[in-house]
Amino acid sequence: MSKVYYDDHKREVTEQGDYKYVLCHSGGSSAKFGPCEVCGKYVSDVFHQLEERKYKGGYTKDGCVSPFGHEACLRKQRRE
Ligand SMILES: [Zn+2]
Repeated sequence: MSKVYYDDHKREVTEQGDYKYVLCHSGGSSAKFGPCEVCGKYVSDVFHQLEERKYKGGYTKDGCVSPFGHEACLRKQRRE
């Protein structure tokens, strides 16, 4: 089960098990941010996904990945 909501910056936040994902537009294409870090192809509208893990009542970024790339590729990168 996952919980999806939007934060104050209108970013999509997904809580899934021990992990939390924040998805946001980076505001540019691969010309600015480089190719998708998941599939390696050009992206016209690059997304950034922040991953955080539950830790001691809060969240930590330790051991987490925050790739840039296609929105669909980033969603597939999420842990079950
Ligand atoms: Zn991709």
